[in-house]
Amino acid sequence: MTSIVDSFNQGRKKAPISFEIFPPKGDLTLDQAREVAGGLAVLDPSYISVTCSAGGSSLAGKSPNATARTVSMIQEEFGVRGMAHVTCIGATEESLAEVIADLKARDISTVLALRGDLVEGAQPGPFKLAVDLIPRLKEAGFTVAAAAYPEGHVDCLDPQDNIRHLKAKQDAGADFFVTQLFFSNDVLYRFLEDAHKAGVTAPIDCGIMPFMSKSQIQRMVFLCGASLPSPIIKLLAKYEDSEDDLLKAGVEYAAQQLVDLDAHGVDGLHLYSMNRPAVARACVEAVRAARG
Ligand code: FAD
Repeated sequence: MTSIVDSFNQGRKKAPISFEIFPPKGDLTLDQAREVAGGLAVLDPSYISVTCSAGGSSLAGKSPNATARTVSMIQEEFGVRGMAHVTCIGATEESLAEVIADLKARDISTVLALRGDLVEGAQPGPFKLAVDLIPRLKEAGFTVAAAAYPEGHVDCLDPQDNIRHLKAKQDAGADFFVTQLFFSNDVLYRFLEDAHKAGVTAPIDCGIMPFMSKSQIQRMVFLCGASLPSPIIKLLAKYEDSEDDLLKAGVEYAAQQLVDLDAHGVDGLHLYSMNRPAVARACVEAVRAARG
C-alpha cells in the first residue's frame, strides 16, 4: 500500500475522502465494528482512522488493544489503509514501547500522535505534549499525523500560539495533520492561510462532523470550543422537537461544508463518521455529485 501522505490533494481538485471510527468499546463488539468498517470501505476512502479512549486505552497495557485490532481488521479484511490514534499523556517509556511493538506486529504504518486528555486519577507521565511523542513514533518508522485546531485548542487562547504549536509539530516530524471539527469553512480558510504563512507545508486533512442531535452538538462545542455559526443555531431552533429532521439537516449541512471545501481544493476531506456508514454515504454522494 502507498503511504497516506501520497494520497493528499496536491493542487488537484478532488480531495481524497477519509473517515474516523470508534473501536469496539462498551456494547460495541468487534463484529459490529467490522460492519461499520465494511459499510465505510465500500465508499472507497483514502484511509480509515480509529480513535483510542481518553487517557489512551492504547497505552493502558490492555491486551489485545481495541484500536490496533480494529486497524488491522480494516487493512486485512477490507484492503483499506488504516491509521491508529495513539495518546501519550499517561504513558510511560515501557507502555509506549509496548504499543509501538504491537502496532508494528500488526503491520500498522500510520499513527495519529496525540497528547490526549488526562483521565481522573491518572498520573501524567514523561510525555507532556504531542510534540514529545511525534519524534518517538518517527524514530520507530511510522508515518505520523498530528492534530490541528482551526479555532485553537480549548486551552490555547492565543491564535498565534496555536499556529506556533502546529508548526512545532511539523518541525518535530509530523507528516500531515487532521483538523478538529469546525462548522464554519471561513474559519478553516483563515487558519490554512495563517498556517501556510507560518511555513506549515504538511497536508492538512479537514475534519467535518455532521451534527446529529442537540446534545451531541452541545457536547462538541463544550469539548472542542468549536463556534456555532448562525445557520446552525437556526436549524437547531427549527428542528428542536424533531430528531429525524435535525439529523437530516445535520447531514445536509456537513455535505455542503464538504462540497465547498472540495471546490476550494483543500488537501483532504476527513469525516467523523460517528460509526454511521449511512451518514458517511450521504456525505460522500453529495461530494461526488457536485464533482459531476
Ligand atoms: P498537543 O498538541 O500536545 O496540545 C495540547 C495543549 O498544549 C494545547 O493547548 C496546545 O495549544 C498546547 N501546546 C501544543 N504544543 C505546544 C508547545 N510546543 N508548547 C507549548 N504548548 C503547546 N483524544 C483521545 O483521547 N483519543 C482520540 O482518539 C482522539 N482523537 C483525536 C483526533 C483529532 C483529529 C483531534 C483534533 C483530537 C483528537 N483527540 C483524541 C483529542 C485530543 O487528545 C485532545 O484535543 C487533547 O487535549 C490535545 O491533544 P493534542 O495532541 O492536540 O495535544
